Amino acid sequence: MNIYNTLTKRLEEFKPIEPDKVSMYVCGPTVYNLIHIGNARPMIIFDTFRRYMTYRGYDVNYVSNFTDVDDKIIKAANEEGVDSKEISERYIKECKKDMEGLNVMPATTHPKATEEIDGMIDMIKTLIDKGHAYVADDGTVYYRTTSFKDYGKLSHKNIEDLEGGHRDIKVTGSEGKEDMLDFVLWKPKKEGEPYWESPWCEGRPGWHIECSVMSKRYLGDTIDIHAGGEDLIFPHHENEIAQSEAANGVPFAHYWMHNAFLNIDNKKMSKSLGNFFTVRDIAAKYELQVLRFFMLSAHYRSPLNFSDSLMESAKAGLSRIRNCVSDLDFRASKAEKKELSDSERGTLEKALALKEKFIAAMDDDLNTADAISVIFELVKLANTEADEGSSYGFIMQMKDAVVELSDVLGLIVEEAKEDLDNEIEALIEERQQARKNRDFARADEIRDELLKKGIVLKDTREGVKWERV
Ligand code: AMP
Ligand code: ZN
Repeated sequence: MNIYNTLTKRLEEFKPIEPDKVSMYVCGPTVYNLIHIGNARPMIIFDTFRRYMTYRGYDVNYVSNFTDVDDKIIKAANEEGVDSKEISERYIKECKKDMEGLNVMPATTHPKATEEIDGMIDMIKTLIDKGHAYVADDGTVYYRTTSFKDYGKLSHKNIEDLEGGHRDIKVTGSEGKEDMLDFVLWKPKKEGEPYWESPWCEGRPGWHIECSVMSKRYLGDTIDIHAGGEDLIFPHHENEIAQSEAANGVPFAHYWMHNAFLNIDNKKMSKSLGNFFTVRDIAAKYELQVLRFFMLSAHYRSPLNFSDSLMESAKAGLSRIRNCVSDLDFRASKAEKKELSDSERGTLEKALALKEKFIAAMDDDLNTADAISVIFELVKLANTEADEGSSYGFIMQMKDAVVELSDVLGLIVEEAKEDLDNEIEALIEERQQARKNRDFARADEIRDELLKKGIVLKDTREGVKWERV
């Protein structure tokens, strides 16, 4: 597989540290509100990456954090007059609900910043001991960026660019920083804020240190892949590299993957600009699987503009796959179990070639847009080749191929039996009601609708019974 590596600005062949294993860390959301669909983009993209690697036989150790101590969380807590833990726990729960709707698998580990404070203090101590960090008069601990010669290597900026040519001017005074690029590792508490004891002052960590610590704890000093949205390249990921490599003395991550923004009217969707939809807003209008399909319909490194019309085409695209699967199911229920014909064998070979094409697209830096086109080709092949005379084995193999590839993308295209049963029961109930109201046209319509799903109704003495044909 080739992955575009932000660190080298090149497509590189993926070579894992340990054979058949992938260790991967994805920066997760700050939990002070419901997540918006911009936040959902990295979740869906990197979940798809994980699913694909798993499909290719890798054992993926996937870690994604929740940032549960932060100015915005504290502000939200103060506004509501509750503890900041109440805010973060509430929104972690809500975020997990959204993830479930989007069919984003839970991470192997979902660490929370507030549960990793000891590890952060240890790493900060190491950085101070090695001369990479210093304590200001008020107890703030800063990272000394001048001590890390590779600072800027991920964002491909040199120090002069980053500082606008003012590196030699020392910033002193209120902040107590030696240099304007130095960033906070630990800061003193303020009134009404959560705090922890530390060797420097009662206070709380800066934002960047948590990811260095959690990545080390759950995945080791050097990991295969670190990922997140492109806004994290600088300063967040640059600072994570500076912290981890200075503390551990080895490279932090071999591959850095970044998704482009989800935009609205060509501007980044963000809470601060106020131009966002929450995942919950979208769920009120669409099934969340449509949102997942929409996100996958573009390459992850291309900006994606959110619009109703694109959501409508995503909806139509998903239905096309689902209709194909339910048609194949219906045909299979009527088909004869017989030897495969030569032409059926030929079609299955074409399907196999399409599967290879799908894999080639995904191997090409996770080209989900092309992968979806390949699923459509497969759907077209199934729709034209599976007919009344087709054998059961052929139809089922075509169906399995469509479901298998959709599954790799985390797209649910086959209704779970239970959901289907509930839907059938509801339709039967509606039909009974229609008959009571002497609306026989609607009652017949429902009977036909059920028949299309392969369900026949039988009026019995105990009421209406149904069975699959
Ligand atoms: P935050 O809660 O802002 O730290 O964001 C969590 C994740 O969502 C990070 O990986 C961000 O890069 C990503 N993210 C935030 N807004 C967008 C957006 N509009 N498009 C794509 N990714 C985003
Ligand atoms: Zn991070």
